[in-house]
Order: sequence, then C-alpha cells, then structure tokens
Amino acid sequence: MNKNEKPFEIIVLGPPLSGKGTQTELVAKTFDIPHISTGPILHTIKSDVSNPLSSEVMGYMDKGQLVPTELVNRLVADRIKQADCKFGYAMDGFPRTLEQAQFMDVSADVDYVFSIKISDTTIIERMSGRRVCKNGHTWHMKYSPPKVEGICDDCGEQLFQRDDDKEETVKARLEIYHRETDAIIKFYTDKGMLIEIDGETHIEGVFQQIVKKMVVDLRGKIGWK
Ligand code: AMP
Repeated sequence: MNKNEKPFEIIVLGPPLSGKGTQTELVAKTFDIPHISTGPILHTIKSDVSNPLSSEVMGYMDKGQLVPTELVNRLVADRIKQADCKFGYAMDGFPRTLEQAQFMDVSADVDYVFSIKISDTTIIERMSGRRVCKNGHTWHMKYSPPKVEGICDDCGEQLFQRDDDKEETVKARLEIYHRETDAIIKFYTDKGMLIEIDGETHIEGVFQQIVKKMVVDLRGKIGWK
C-alpha cells in the first residue's frame, strides 16, 4: 500500500501512568483510527482462563514484569494487519524494549513517535487514584472520575485497582521502564522521529501539543504553508 494511504501510524511512548493510554485514545478518536494497546490485549488474554496463554501471561503481569517479546511482537504484528488499520493506528504500550522497537521498524512504517515526559514523583502521585473495570476501561478518582463512584461509565462494571497499579509493583514497573526506555528513546532520536511532549500538564494540554505537531506536519506534507 502507498504510504499516503496509511498516514496515521502513530506510537505514543511514556511511563506507566503518564496518561499515554488516554492520549492515544484521544488521538485514535480524532483521526478515526483504532487504538491498539498491548496492556489491555494482554489483560484480556490473562483474564480468559480458556486461553492457553493465560497462566503464562499472568505470571509476568502480576509481578510487573514484561511479557516475553516474541509473544507480544506476534500479537502486535497480527493486530496491525487487520482491516480496521487501513489508515493507520494509534498505539501505546508498544514498543517497550529496543528489540520491540526494532521489530516495529521492519514490520510497519511508523509516521509519528510521541514521547510523553513526566517525573517519577508525579507518576507515584497519580498511581493511587487509577481504577479499571474488567473490560480494561480506565478512570482516575481525581483526574477523570466516573459519574458514579466505583462504577465504569462505559459498561457499568465494578471498578478496582489493578494488582500492577499497587505501589511496590509500580516502582518495579518504573525501574523496568527506565532501564528499557533509554535505548528506545535513543533509537527514535537517532532516526529523527522522536517528538517530545510535556506530560506534566492536564489532559487537554498534552493532547493539544500532540495535535499541533501532527497538524503542522500534515500541512507540510500537503504543501499548505
Ligand atoms: P500497561 O497496561 O501498558 O501498563 O501494561 C500492563 C502489563 O502488561 C505490563 O506490566 C506488562 O506485564 C504487560 N505488557 C504490556 N505491554 C507490553 C509489552 N509491549 N511488552 C511486554 N509486556 C507488556
């Protein structure tokens, strides 16, 4: 397929609780492309006891460890080949390691790599308020509360704190994130693709930065100065 027909292959990088899921969802809705997120894909596999991969995936996720790259690569490669990705996709949670970034480099033709920058202190503060439902919809007690406390607005299911959002697990996840991310950031910086976004501000502020960068780029591509 001609690249111009698939102009929205977008990756959003950021530490856990940086708001990357929310931002990726907003980008997906704005450009009418699917939101692909490895976290929820893996959570679905983990929760489905009939899935032969369930217990393997659970073993890694409940300890805050990364699921083996080979498995995650395969899931992502299958997902981006699906028909709804014909104009692209907005992806978060992947790539998470240099190996995954290299895999993405040969499996796709990525247009934008956004990196949401945010301090560990802010992340730990945000952690305590995050709640999810069993379908993977995410809310925050302070920043995006559901209309009825403890109940998901989207599907009416009970909200709970994920095991991997508990403080010790978040610290382990941050450690992994920092260890792995430097190499990914360098990989995309060297390719001239990394777009840094200030994640310390509110949801709309972060989203405006992303959209502005895309609009400027798209205007350049169609020659509208
Ligand atoms: P998330 O919802 O993105 O925070 O992901 C939750 C958990 O899913 C992580 O702690 C990992 O165990 C697993 N996971 C998500 N994305 C990946 C990935 N790209 N590679 C390996 N493991 C992943």
